[in-house]
Amino acid sequence: MTRVTTLGCCPNCGRAITRDYLLIEYESDGCPAKFAECPDCRDVVHPSAE
Ligand SMILES: [Zn+2]
Repeated sequence: MTRVTTLGCCPNCGRAITRDYLLIEYESDGCPAKFAECPDCRDVVHPSAE
C-alpha cells in the first residue's frame, strides 16, 4: 500500500505537506497538533487541515 498521507496545507503558500515533512506531533489541550516543514517555503508551519 503506497497511500500518500498529507498532513494538510501550508498556511503560507498553500502547498500540500506530506508526512515526510512532519517534525513533531503533540497534544495541546487534548487536541492533536502538528508542526511540519513546508517543502516549498521551508518554513516551520502548522499544516491546516484540508
Ligand atoms: Zn509553504
